[in-house]
Amino acid sequence: MATTSDSSASFEETDTRKDEMHSTIEAWIDDLVGDVDAVQASDEFQEWLDVQSRFHDYSHRNTLLIKLQCPEATKVAGFNTWRNEFDRHVQEGEQAIWIWAPIITKQCPECENSPSYHENSDCEYDETPPEEWSKGLVGFKPAAVFDVSQTEGEPLPELETEATGDAEDLVPALTDAADDLGVTVRIVDADEWAHGDAKGVCKQRDIHDFTPIVEAKARTNQADLAVTLIHEFAHALLHFDVDDKAERSKREVEAEAVAYIVGRYCGLETSGSAFYLAAWQYDEPESIQDRFGRISSTAEEIIDVIDG
Ligand SMILES: [Zn+2]
Ligand SMILES: [Zn+2]
Repeated sequence: MATTSDSSASFEETDTRKDEMHSTIEAWIDDLVGDVDAVQASDEFQEWLDVQSRFHDYSHRNTLLIKLQCPEATKVAGFNTWRNEFDRHVQEGEQAIWIWAPIITKQCPECENSPSYHENSDCEYDETPPEEWSKGLVGFKPAAVFDVSQTEGEPLPELETEATGDAEDLVPALTDAADDLGVTVRIVDADEWAHGDAKGVCKQRDIHDFTPIVEAKARTNQADLAVTLIHEFAHALLHFDVDDKAERSKREVEAEAVAYIVGRYCGLETSGSAFYLAAWQYDEPESIQDRFGRISSTAEEIIDVIDG
């Protein structure tokens, strides 16, 4: 994988600045696409993917129930699933998070109940015996699940997405730049952070005020904080008024590609972006190049503001 630490650039205030910037960004996007391919082919990534696929996608209703009972929940599974699939166990004294689990069983073709409910109901269907009924959803029962923070054991594999480097001046430069970009920034203490394992979010101030607010979780690694800020700025500039779930992975690819370019321009080591992109881009291998125009113009806009 290409390393990016010694390959930052600076663009002089000349007539050719725009062209130079553009062709540098083009070359960097090529590097990034190559890095993402290398990540996707790696054993480390395949193992991560395999573990992710063992977590269940919960319904909207269950996701809401989980958030209500355990706002900081990130990865959720049942007691036995934690033990059997992930080699972890629920710690003693942990409170279960209750969700609704579907009951799938033989279903009466007429009243759509399970055999025992059908038996005790007024339904008179008797053309076929219950053994021949096909299975279907007959109802829901409460089920207990636990968040990863309530368990201990074998660590879950994580992708190393963190940026590194010297960003002591960059974080203040980015918070200053926010005004020019039309964004409000808040860096929130880790113990007040309410967005789970997200490092940053971009949201609307309130229902009356459409100014984007970027919030980032405070951390010691200033380079990583800077890249999170750039990622969220890109969301604010490109996606603020978009709310299309199907496009989520494309938005993440755009924002992280912008973060990679601007971070690299500022001399940071941003090769971890390839892991983030590999994870989001898994189903849509073409989208980085497809979105080159949007990515490069947003990166250039942020670079121009930082350079002042
Ligand atoms: Zn029936
Ligand atoms: Zn994002």
